[in-house]
Amino acid sequence: MKELSDYIKVLQENSDLPDKELGLVVASEEANVLLAPRADSVRQEHYGKDVYVRGLIEFTNYCRNNCYYCGIRAGNTQALRYRLTQEEILSCCAEGYDLGFRTFVLQGGEDLHFSDKDICSLVTGIKEKHPDCAVTLSVGEKERASYKAYFDAGADRYLLRHETACDTHYRMLHPESLSLANRKRCLWDLKEIGYQVGSGFMVGSPYQSTENLVADLRFLQELEPDMIGIGPFLSHKDTPFKNQANGSFTQSIRLVSILRLMFPYALIPATTALGTIHPQGREMGIKAGANVVMPNLSPLRVRKLYQLYDNKISTGEESAQCIADLKKRMEGIGYKVVSARGDVKR
Ligand code: SAH
Repeated sequence: MKELSDYIKVLQENSDLPDKELGLVVASEEANVLLAPRADSVRQEHYGKDVYVRGLIEFTNYCRNNCYYCGIRAGNTQALRYRLTQEEILSCCAEGYDLGFRTFVLQGGEDLHFSDKDICSLVTGIKEKHPDCAVTLSVGEKERASYKAYFDAGADRYLLRHETACDTHYRMLHPESLSLANRKRCLWDLKEIGYQVGSGFMVGSPYQSTENLVADLRFLQELEPDMIGIGPFLSHKDTPFKNQANGSFTQSIRLVSILRLMFPYALIPATTALGTIHPQGREMGIKAGANVVMPNLSPLRVRKLYQLYDNKISTGEESAQCIADLKKRMEGIGYKVVSARGDVKR
């Protein structure tokens, strides 16, 4: 076995490749054309042509952390900070519900202004008004008891990317106060509590090697998350990584396909970062094996403020209000946006 196409066949049969061969596929620009149609057929076996949509509400850009890559890091004094009130969040959900959204994702920086009680009350508030909807939280690292409380309040899913599965690489992206060990502890806690768990990583983050990416895939095999979100690293002008090169679009697309082959059941979004780095990024992500998009449902006045990286898109197709355009664009490439909770099928 020495050909790229042989390695990809092994992946499609959902058998394992040794690290070295997996690394070759991860790094090979030629692999994309071979991977995408195979990933698409695996995706169609499990999810047909359906594209699930999630209404993303970025409810606070305050953050206590200082991740070197992130535009809303605590140390960025240039960022204009905002928080949404519970009423504002509920009105986003009401608007989203009318637009057909049946999952709401509450994402934010690690903002301790929102106590566990506040987060529980947000979750119960949404669930009371929209019992047929799923609530996804993405509010970072917490104690297990907090995760349990949110779950008991009705939260269904939790997104927490591991960012990178190598300790040494993790250290290069984060300050001392954060650790990969705690990140993983959070993910295992979330899983044990019963959440549908999402993890993932950035593609082309500074100092990332092919071995790092292989380790990311290995960690995901161990975790078996329900959702896997990836996107290219994109630099932000007011961070320590302002002069670092952006991640590669084609490698990000390639990894979407590899993820689909390795995790046939997974919910894989065509992320905002993919849509930011390339005008057809989301469509290409869907064609390469992704089956979820997460349009922005935050109030217009704050959209530009949740600036994780430069030029982050938040209007146009990215906007929940433009779901009609998104539907057309997805139909144009042969897929169908559905109004459903879109739980994982495993
Ligand atoms: N505080 C939450 C949400 C973080 S923002 C948490 O810790 O989970 C969501 C994701 O955006 C992060 O997990 C990270 O992978 C991604 N992100 C942050 N900065 C980025 C950048 N500069 N380029 C690309 N993705 C970035």
